[in-house]
Amino acid sequence: MQKGHIGITTENIFPIIKKYLYSDHEIFLRELVSNAVDATQKLKTLSAVGEFKGELGDLTVRVILDEKKKKITISDRGIGMTAEEIEKYINQIAFSGANEFLEKYKKDANSIIGHFGLGFYSSFMVSKKVEIETLSHKDGATAVKWSCDGSPEYSIEEIKKEDRGTSIILYLDDDNKNFADKNEISKLLKKYCRFLPVEIGFGKKTEWKVGKEVELEQDNIINETNPLWTRKPADLKDEDYSKFYRDLYPMTDEPLFNIHLNVDYPFNLTGVLYFPKLKNNIEIQKNKIQLYCNQVYVTDSVEGIVPEFLTLLHGVLDSPDIPLNVSRSYLQSDGNVKKISSHITKKVSDRLEDIFKKDRKAFEEKWDDLKLFIQYGMLTDEKFEERARKFALLKNIDAKYFTYDEYKDIISANQTDKDKQIVYLYSTDIEKQHAYIEAAKAKGYDVLILDGQLDTHIINHLEQKVEKSRFVRVDSDTVEKLIPKDDKSESKLSLAQKQDLTSVFSSMVPKTSKMNFIVEFESMGAANVPVMITQNEFMRRMKDMSSMQGGMMSFYGEMPDSYNLIVNDEHPLVERIISETEKEVGDQVQTLRGKLSSLENKQSELKKSHEGKKDEDIPQNEKEELEDLSKKIGELNTKKEEVLKNAGQNNKLVSQLIDLALLSNNMLSGEALTKFVKRSIELI
Ligand code: ADP
Repeated sequence: MQKGHIGITTENIFPIIKKYLYSDHEIFLRELVSNAVDATQKLKTLSAVGEFKGELGDLTVRVILDEKKKKITISDRGIGMTAEEIEKYINQIAFSGANEFLEKYKKDANSIIGHFGLGFYSSFMVSKKVEIETLSHKDGATAVKWSCDGSPEYSIEEIKKEDRGTSIILYLDDDNKNFADKNEISKLLKKYCRFLPVEIGFGKKTEWKVGKEVELEQDNIINETNPLWTRKPADLKDEDYSKFYRDLYPMTDEPLFNIHLNVDYPFNLTGVLYFPKLKNNIEIQKNKIQLYCNQVYVTDSVEGIVPEFLTLLHGVLDSPDIPLNVSRSYLQSDGNVKKISSHITKKVSDRLEDIFKKDRKAFEEKWDDLKLFIQYGMLTDEKFEERARKFALLKNIDAKYFTYDEYKDIISANQTDKDKQIVYLYSTDIEKQHAYIEAAKAKGYDVLILDGQLDTHIINHLEQKVEKSRFVRVDSDTVEKLIPKDDKSESKLSLAQKQDLTSVFSSMVPKTSKMNFIVEFESMGAANVPVMITQNEFMRRMKDMSSMQGGMMSFYGEMPDSYNLIVNDEHPLVERIISETEKEVGDQVQTLRGKLSSLENKQSELKKSHEGKKDEDIPQNEKEELEDLSKKIGELNTKKEEVLKNAGQNNKLVSQLIDLALLSNNMLSGEALTKFVKRSIELI
């Protein structure tokens, strides 16, 4: 027996491996099984080119677990190793600057292992002793056994081994006994080795016979050696794609469609991507794409490798050209990764455009499920945005779909305002905004339905992209003012009348910290509603955005919702309120107003005489008079306000009209609703 020292510059790498590579212990199995697969494929290649002339025979890689002895064996019938090869590939591992590197990447076992080709050494993360028994495929080779107990000392000796190939034998250490469990190993094989290109056997197939599970002769093969993405699209049917999808994501709805990727120049990439039906929650949908490297599972978090919006897709990507041994931030600047990422983006938009062009009806049918994905892409990826503008759709309340250009053409004639801006009307809730939609329709306007998670953002986006355009929700103003066509005056009332009636109506609007009402008057015709409630587009959008983003915008989020209470001064009921108010408090208000105006006249005269004078030049008595005047004016105003408020409170019609407006906006509940019902009965 020969003894030697493993050729690394650091004193002892094993404690380091054990100490730092804690998080991903389980990958030892992936590393060892894929080494076995590599050795097997190398032998196949040698055989194919005639360099290996022996029988290939059964090439199954076997994982054998001895639960009692806490021992795992991974055996293959691949090329094997000679003693010299062990010396070269196993003993002499270049490992300069190991400490420094490990310190830097201690949280990421993957990167260290890949970086140093330490695949085999990952076995020491879980073992107190590792043995290699191997017989090279070369003629006349002798079998050898290498053994190492985790110190830098190893031993190597000749042994008898009949069969070509390598067995790696792990003696699990006490901290890693959990791997001596059939279910655990099964689970790991399923995760990492499911699509490896050489058959992997784990135990034997079993069968139920007379109520008992018995082992059969055949190996229990855990993998599928020719997964769908490695096959030619021409040989595949729709069912094959559906089946593969169901295998990968058993509990998920059928996908909308798929893309089969197959590139071999200038980089290597295969894979199948599926468009899932996206419900209204982006976050949950992410991280379903599985990344493979030559059919070895690597990760299911592909951010940094594909643009963020593509992480909403499902499926498999396989590329040996994605460097996996570097940090995520470095990945994004890697040339190959950039090319791969823009290739996928292009393929995805090509596919969508293709379906859109060839079968618009099918595309429209799928739009509602696709929309979130496409919008997310448009908002986050400039390149994709450019392409998607051709097929991104807008849906109106009659469930008709339009491209952006089509829609603009349709509405521009009737929905351009006096400032030449095209006004896109939209609803976020057909039920709740029914009355407003009807009003807009009566005007011949078209109304979009924009009720998706990203629609607010898309609106902002389109307003920037489409010149002279703005989006307005149907309930943000009276129908006349949604798309103002001329500058005609809004109300036939005089300023004084408006002031008085504002006090009357203000007295009865709901007073809470969450809502704020501004009373306005408009002449909307006798046939229109007497009172309606609108919500300013700008303020509402600010609030919507702030609730999505928080932070800087939370200022808007904390403000009360601001509504406009629009009173139609041409409606007979409003006219009745006007005349009843006039009858009840008209004289009183008139007197007050008379007094007020004479005081105000005095005030302005005095102020005028002070113009251009310095403060010290104004006589004290005049200063006092001014103070007295503004006090009296204040008092009279309060008085007038009170009189009008009382009139509002005493006139049931005022609250009744306001409540009806609230009711049609779903804003009446609790005590206010009870009061309304009671009052309605009284009025009947
Ligand atoms: P890597 O696989 O990245 O080269 P490893 O540490 O996993 O690094 O393996 C080092 C080398 O040891 C391999 O390149 C291969 O030459 C040899 N080797 C490992 N496992 C086997 C095996 N099962 N059969 C034959 N050779 C092997």
